[in-house]
Amino acid sequence: MPLSIFIDALPYNEMKLNYSNWFDNIQISEMLPNIAYSSSLHWQLYCNKYPDDRGVFVDWVKEKEPKKSVRFLSTILRPLECFDKLSVISKKVLDRKIYRKNTFANIPYRFRNEFTEKSKYLFWNKKIYGQEPIFDGYTVISQDEGHLSFDETVSKLNASIEDGNKNIFLVLSFADALGHLCRRGEKYSARLKPYMAELKTLLDKYLTINPKESILIVSDHGMSTVNKKIDLQLGKHFGKQTKKTYIAYSDSAIMCFFIEDKKLIEPIKEYLLTREEGHLLTEDDRAFYKVTDRKFGDLIYILKEGNVFANNWFGKSLKKPNPDGSGMHGFWPEWTSYDQNATVILINGEEKLEEKYIYPSAHQLIKRVMGKE
Ligand SMILES: [Zn+2]
Repeated sequence: MPLSIFIDALPYNEMKLNYSNWFDNIQISEMLPNIAYSSSLHWQLYCNKYPDDRGVFVDWVKEKEPKKSVRFLSTILRPLECFDKLSVISKKVLDRKIYRKNTFANIPYRFRNEFTEKSKYLFWNKKIYGQEPIFDGYTVISQDEGHLSFDETVSKLNASIEDGNKNIFLVLSFADALGHLCRRGEKYSARLKPYMAELKTLLDKYLTINPKESILIVSDHGMSTVNKKIDLQLGKHFGKQTKKTYIAYSDSAIMCFFIEDKKLIEPIKEYLLTREEGHLLTEDDRAFYKVTDRKFGDLIYILKEGNVFANNWFGKSLKKPNPDGSGMHGFWPEWTSYDQNATVILINGEEKLEEKYIYPSAHQLIKRVMGKE
C-alpha cells in the first residue's frame, strides 16, 4: 500500500506550472472542489460523508446554543452591537482570553443563541480519524493533530519511513495557511517552494526504500486571490434581519438564509438571481452536493471566485490589509475558476489518471490506491 498524502489547498495550476517535472513518473490531474470548507470537505473526499449525512454544512448550524454562559453573555452584551468595532473586539477578547476557541466568532450577539458550533476536523486526532475504515492499516501523521509545524510533521514522516513503514497517511496544512496570507502569483509560488523542496527529499527517500510503492497526493481545493468585498445590502431591500423575518448567516464566500417569514423567500430568491457576484443553489445543486437539509438554510448563495462578503460571521480582522493581498477558497465551483481547482497527483503509480476529477470519482481513486476495494 502507498504513501497517501493530503495537502490542504494545494492548487492544480500551481502544480502544473511549477512541478510538472517534480518526479520522473508523475501524473497531475485537475479536480473540481466541492462546496463548504475544510471541516466538511475532508469528510466528503476521504469518507464519502456529505453534509446531509453528517448534519453539518458550514462550521455553525442553526441549533440553539446549549451553553448557559454563552447564552447569558450574548444577551447582556447585545447593546455593544451599536458600536461595530467594540462588538468585534469584545468577541475577540471572549474567544481568546476566556473560551480559548471560536465561541463567539463574529456572529451578531442578537443571533448568537440561534447557532451552535459543530465543526469537526477529520484530521484533528485519532479519536476522529481512527473510526474511519479508509485509514485502517495506515500510520497517520497529521499536521493538524496538536497544531504541528511543518518541520515537526516532516520529521515524524522521516522517522516513520526509517522505521520501515510503507502504509503512511500524511496530512499537511502548510499550503492553506500560507495561501490565505498572499495573493496568487510569483510571491505565492516563491513562498511555497521551500516546503515543496523539503517534502520532495522525503518522498525520494520513501521511493528509494520502497521502489514498488506509489505516492498519491490529493488536495481539497486550490487558492484564489481575494479581489472584491461584497455587500448585498440586504437591509435596504428586505429590512433589518430579525429572528421573525430572516437571518443571513455569512461565512467568507457562503451565505445561508434562514427565512422565518415565508413571504420573503421568493423576493430574496429573485433578488439574488439579479446579482452577478455569486450563484444561488438550485434544488438540483443541493441534491448534487448533498446539502438538501433545510437546516443548512432555506436558500444558499455562494460567491464566485475572488469575491468575499464584506461582513463575515466566521471572524473579522481589525488589522490593516496585508500589502501582499490575501487568498481564499470556498467559492462556487466552476472549471474556469482555475486558481480554486484542486489536484490529484500520482507518483510511481500503475493506474493511468483521468484528466479531470470531481469529488466522487476522486474518492473512488483514493479507495483503489489505498487498497480499500
Ligand atoms: Zn483555508
